[in-house]
Amino acid sequence: LESAVRQADRLSALGGLAAGLAHEIKNPLGGIKGAAQLLELEFPDNEDLREYIRVMLKEVQRVNVIVEELLALASPGRLKLSKVNLHRVLSDIVLLQKNASEGKEVYLQQYFDPSIPPILGDEALLTQLFLNLIKNALEAVEAGGVVKVTSRVLSDYAMTQKGERRARMVAIDIADNGPGIEAEVLENMFTPFFTTKSQGTGLGLAICQKIVSEHRGMIKVDSDAKRGTVFTVMLPLVQ
Ligand code: ADP
Ligand code: MG
Repeated sequence: LESAVRQADRLSALGGLAAGLAHEIKNPLGGIKGAAQLLELEFPDNEDLREYIRVMLKEVQRVNVIVEELLALASPGRLKLSKVNLHRVLSDIVLLQKNASEGKEVYLQQYFDPSIPPILGDEALLTQLFLNLIKNALEAVEAGGVVKVTSRVLSDYAMTQKGERRARMVAIDIADNGPGIEAEVLENMFTPFFTTKSQGTGLGLAICQKIVSEHRGMIKVDSDAKRGTVFTVMLPLVQ
């Protein structure tokens, strides 16, 4: 964890540089994408060409994702705070991911505690946080797998050791019945660029950790080869 934090510090020191670089990469990338799309319109009947163009566009999209994620990780944390309805954020993601699931049939379910009020947070960042976790869960399960998104309020009256009342928290669980996470992966998965996926960036969880800490929350993971994995995000409920 310490090395992950040190690495995140170093990345955020490079924040300005990364923002500039991201801009410099995204512009020409937009040019490549536009040209590829024109090429497709120009030769609509050439099946081979269309296949090459499809690959080009997919790879352009991949570079875009890497640049976006690097930017999210490196940019200095300035939260745009507003009252955020977590359930709306979560159900939008669930709906979107249900429609996006190509081929693999996965059950994506939501169980919300309706008594949870809006929280103070950055809606765009919270969306990114839960999207990353839900995507990881969907990628972890096999066909027929189940991903459950649950909200609950953590005990109002918990006391810290100093005897002060702990801030009321909301907990969001993202549970999957995938293969679980090996000890070696558990140790490294929050480190930027650590991935076990052939097409992964390894930036998702590093970004999640950054967003959670910017919101003064906590993230924990509970994983088991039999039951699967539960990521829990705890966020303060402030009046
Ligand atoms: P990426 O998804 O691009 O690999 P992440 O930072 O999102 O990067 O995740 C890092 C690694 O953590 C993944 O490659 C995977 O090995 C592991 N991981 C994350 N979530 C889960 C999950 N729900 N089940 C199993 N493994 C997971
Ligand atoms: Mg991921």
